[in-house]
Amino acid sequence: MRTTRAHNDYRETTWLNPKVEVRDSTIEGRGLFALQDIEPGEMIIIMGGRVLTDDEFPALRLEKYSSAAIDEGLNILLDTPNPAECGNHSCDANTWMRDEVTTEAMRLIPAGGELTIDYATHTGTPDWSMPCNCGSTLCRHTVTGNDWRRADVQERYRGHFSPFLNARIEQLRGRAATPPMTDTSNIQHPTSSPPPISNLRPPTPCPWPASASSTSRWSGPAPPARACSPTWAPR
Ligand SMILES: [Zn+2]
Repeated sequence: MRTTRAHNDYRETTWLNPKVEVRDSTIEGRGLFALQDIEPGEMIIIMGGRVLTDDEFPALRLEKYSSAAIDEGLNILLDTPNPAECGNHSCDANTWMRDEVTTEAMRLIPAGGELTIDYATHTGTPDWSMPCNCGSTLCRHTVTGNDWRRADVQERYRGHFSPFLNARIEQLRGRAATPPMTDTSNIQHPTSSPPPISNLRPPTPCPWPASASSTSRWSGPAPPARACSPTWAPR
């Protein structure tokens, strides 16, 4: 299991850093913005909701929902609506994953700056894609569920993908480093990991009004910081 927590150890509701508010975004619709400077490593969002396997989703017959993959075949169905849904993607993001449900600032985010995350850090569904107009010089123009495989993306967010993607990346690197065998008859040819069917489904329309007070219900005191699991600490 590549998650950092037991499956009953997730929040029921999403937590959002009280320094963050929802405003209109030039990237798309509404986004999350810093009310004051946010330091590198500061927690931004802790996703909360119900943990479900891929197999459990169809029985719920949900028409509209937000979820995030937290391991191979395992997802968290987010409590909605919540302002964290307004977070926009950028190909040059300033937040990344601390663990499978927690995002944190990659670098100093000055007051007024939009908080963004690269969907490649937590999306691994091969057949998912969306056009991107993030405006970054690094813009990939089309963001896909295979972007975690890109060397440039791996380099930028190394160790700060969702843990199951960190593990996939390490697995690929291990294969690349394995010396070729002379007898090929017993080689197990790599097969791609079975894709989660219910990976994060961005973008969902942000349901949140843009106002400074709108996120207070999700803020509250910051929960205690969790240490990164040594199994996916940055290397
Ligand atoms: Zn982009």
